[in-house]
Amino acid sequence: MHELSIAYSIVESAEEAARNAGVTKVKAVNLRLGKLSGVVKDALLFSFDIAAQETLLEGAKLNIEELNVIAYCPTCNENVELPSVQIFRCPVCNTPTPTLIQGKELELTSLEIDDENEQEVTNATATHS
Ligand SMILES: [Zn+2]
Repeated sequence: MHELSIAYSIVESAEEAARNAGVTKVKAVNLRLGKLSGVVKDALLFSFDIAAQETLLEGAKLNIEELNVIAYCPTCNENVELPSVQIFRCPVCNTPTPTLIQGKELELTSLEIDDENEQEVTNATATHS
């Protein structure tokens, strides 16, 4: 399963970030997921629980923020949100919009350590704050 290997790499990055920050227990992992990332959210949630077993992330919750697809429209000269992930045309003027601005993200954004603290993750490396 595609999502399982992604889940393992998320767990690996998050665990490394947690270790670097001197954290021994992670409560939740926050992830941004574009609707064009090719990742099925439910499958990823399921896979995450499996991948997190026997790691610092065991029992942690995976919070997924889904990102809509945004493309640049040369006719409107602005970024527009596409209503469908299948049709790459501006919803305002129907011009083809091949330039994607947002929608393919698969980004680990932060780890929640406890109720008070949130550990930001930048490029999977965390620093003490
Ligand atoms: Zn347009």
